[in-house]
Amino acid sequence: MSPIAAHAARDRLRIAIQKSGRLAEPARSLLAACGLSWRESRDKLFCYGESLPVDLLLVRDDDIPGLIADGVCDLGVVGRNELNEQAGERAANGLPQAYCELRPLGFGGCRLMLAVPDEWDWQGPAQLQGRRIATSYPSILAAWLREQGIEAGVVELSGSVEIAPKLGTADLICDLVSSGATLRANLLKPVETLLESEAVLAGPVREFDDARAGLMAMLLRRMDGVLARRDSKLLMFRAERDAVDALARLLPEADPLTALPGGEDGPLSLQTMCHGAVTWQLLEELERAGARGLMVLGVERALE
Ligand code: ATP
Ligand code: ZN
Repeated sequence: MSPIAAHAARDRLRIAIQKSGRLAEPARSLLAACGLSWRESRDKLFCYGESLPVDLLLVRDDDIPGLIADGVCDLGVVGRNELNEQAGERAANGLPQAYCELRPLGFGGCRLMLAVPDEWDWQGPAQLQGRRIATSYPSILAAWLREQGIEAGVVELSGSVEIAPKLGTADLICDLVSSGATLRANLLKPVETLLESEAVLAGPVREFDDARAGLMAMLLRRMDGVLARRDSKLLMFRAERDAVDALARLLPEADPLTALPGGEDGPLSLQTMCHGAVTWQLLEELERAGARGLMVLGVERALE
């Protein structure tokens, strides 16, 4: 697709997500929770939006920042690690900033960390002077080394970074870590965090001046409704009036209790939005304090 065609006015929004991998399924379910649905094409690289004019392009995560920069896609769901790395690369090549992080999405959490062989006695970044560090994130690593005032060799590898010290191609590594199991299996230990990462919604720095502007505003509003309520639960129960204060004290992580309109006598019907965990233990405590008919409901979507 030529850049001219890509930047021409469009009345459909195109979102790039990972085709397969860690971010693929959570990205799709987040977009589905925002009310989007698609007709899948046979090659499954392009999904035509049915409920709204919002199409999906299924690609490798590494391609997403570039697709946004070139205007081929309007939005993308990608790890902050990938987005920052490619932004750094663009800057190093004298290219203008082309995309930005619109929303953190709360999944795909990981850290870009330095990890050294287990037997190292880690005392701090000064120890890295003159060492060789293997990584798939040369731009983020180089920026961090500059900040620390350290000169070290950056060995760029596209995969299997964690075996570089064993192979002797590097002394230590800079790689993504979530549980740490891969590091342990390779007799490495994490010592410094360069970046806290998670999946983000990325978009272009320039604003749309066609139908995509409205579509994007609607999508962002819906997404905020989904993200803000993701861990919220609606708690409903009945209780006598004189028990309400004690019950409210048991719910510090909830909105104030609201009584639903009902009769003058008898128990009140109460509800509140809980933002912390609603455990069995909490429900049992509420019951002991006089709550009856307790019910916990997940919140699928909300407009604020
Ligand atoms: P692709 O085929 O799309 O290039 P990939 O192998 O580069 O896939 P994945 O391993 O699926 O990608 O990782 C995608 C993103 O998931 C990473 O860029 C990162 O943001 C996030 N992530 C979360 N935890 C981890 C982890 N332990 N290791 C690697 N990535 C992680
Ligand atoms: Zn990738």
